[in-house]
Amino acid sequence: MDVRSSVVTRRDALIDGHWVQADSGARFPVLDPATGATLEEAPDMGAAETRRAIEAAARAFSSWRATPAKQRAAIMRRWFELILAEQESLAQILTAEQGKPLAEARGEIAYGATYIDWFAEEGRRVYGDVLPPTANDRRQLVFKQPIGVVAAITPWNFPSAMFARKVGAALGAGCTMVLKPAEQTPFSALALADLAMRAGVPAGVVNVVTARDPAPVGEELTGNPLVRKLSFTGSTEVGKILLRQAAENVQKCSMELGGNAPLIVFADADLDLAVKGAIAVKYRNCGQTCISANRLLVHESVISEFAARLAARASELKVGDGRDEGVALGPLIEEAAVEKCERQVADALARGAKLLLGGARHKLGGSFFEPTVLEGVTADALIFNEETFGPVAPIVAFTDEAEALRLANATPYGLAAYFYSRDLSRIFRIAEALDFGMIGVNETLMSSEAAPFGGMKQSGLGREGSRYGVDDYLELKYVCLGGM
Ligand code: NAD
Repeated sequence: MDVRSSVVTRRDALIDGHWVQADSGARFPVLDPATGATLEEAPDMGAAETRRAIEAAARAFSSWRATPAKQRAAIMRRWFELILAEQESLAQILTAEQGKPLAEARGEIAYGATYIDWFAEEGRRVYGDVLPPTANDRRQLVFKQPIGVVAAITPWNFPSAMFARKVGAALGAGCTMVLKPAEQTPFSALALADLAMRAGVPAGVVNVVTARDPAPVGEELTGNPLVRKLSFTGSTEVGKILLRQAAENVQKCSMELGGNAPLIVFADADLDLAVKGAIAVKYRNCGQTCISANRLLVHESVISEFAARLAARASELKVGDGRDEGVALGPLIEEAAVEKCERQVADALARGAKLLLGGARHKLGGSFFEPTVLEGVTADALIFNEETFGPVAPIVAFTDEAEALRLANATPYGLAAYFYSRDLSRIFRIAEALDFGMIGVNETLMSSEAAPFGGMKQSGLGREGSRYGVDDYLELKYVCLGGM
């Protein structure tokens, strides 16, 4: 076992308040993507353990929903404070299993924690309604009630924040949860769950089941009638599988799926701001972000200057182990991610694009890839049409606003889009016309607990965060009182 495994605080799964092994005793290795070494092993669970976790969550639901929202909020607030107090150790776990630079990992821990704080408060403001009656002898009310046991499935790219975003809303609303974290990154979720126990979250309210093979766990989570809702973050491909499975029980679903974000630079843009924004959103988490700018659409009159400045800034980004000082780009999560970048770069070059920077594996080896900038990419290129999930910035030229919009919307995805302009009427025109759930105008770091996060089209269903985010965890119940 690698010496770095000492950062992991919990190595077993959590069911009904107990830290447990798989029934078979089997464990699977979790790798440190910066070194390729085994960081630690996690329990390799399946349907039987998942069923027990669901049953525990169902038992805990009756008392958690009956706990006054104020009391639930106090427990959640303690959890939030513990997460902040343990920010450094949680960040160390996150970087060790996921690879992102420590500064980003610290940011993710704090960002995720804000959702627990936010939904502790939102839970206290889940008001029902008294409707104006449709006849004098009746009264009509709407109750809002927690939906019940929620299943959550999260990806490896934000293993801490994606759990926090879901569990905050669920617990605030009075629901209980069974989480299955990604097999590449189970320890961030287990460490957060450990703090939940220490904060006083009752046994069974939060359960975490780990597995090397996600399918049997997913089948139980969607097939078990005790689970009333599924909240998934991950690829569109897996989202569709889960939606099909969830159809059997007509399970309510929230889906945060893939993206293919355009970042448009109009001729009137502040280029300094645009380059800074593009660097931030393209290379953060080594490009492994669902809202990463996947296509940089730049007006022909400024394209040469923008491309040269972007390449110059990107060339300064230090690549290395996320634990090392000054590193801006960590490793990609695994070899397949490197191969995808190589494939997309080769395809773009074959279609006539020009390489301005990088384009290959980094000399550090492993799953490190060079920050890359391509100019003259065309709309038929793979990189224009598929999510990259790597540090490759493809620049595409456009001639007028109509073409920019057509190119931007030419994707089945609709998660995030960004554009740079100083013309107020254009800002409204474009913001209204982009088919995306989140629009950054002269800004690329826009996610916050106060704002609704989510996508249109094949990027998903529902929204997380904000006052809207709690609705996905509530049922509306209409009560009609007659004979009044
Ligand atoms: P993925 O879909 O491969 O995996 C996500 C989760 O689903 C993991 O926990 C995995 O174990 C699980 N899973 C895979 N197959 C399953 C099955 N058959 N049944 C049940 N569970 C299954 O995605 P990934 O590679 O881990 O994450 C990257 C993807 O997530 C990208 O497409 C990215 O855009 C998306 N993402 C979206 C958001 C958002 O908020 N919209 C946020 C982060 C990531």
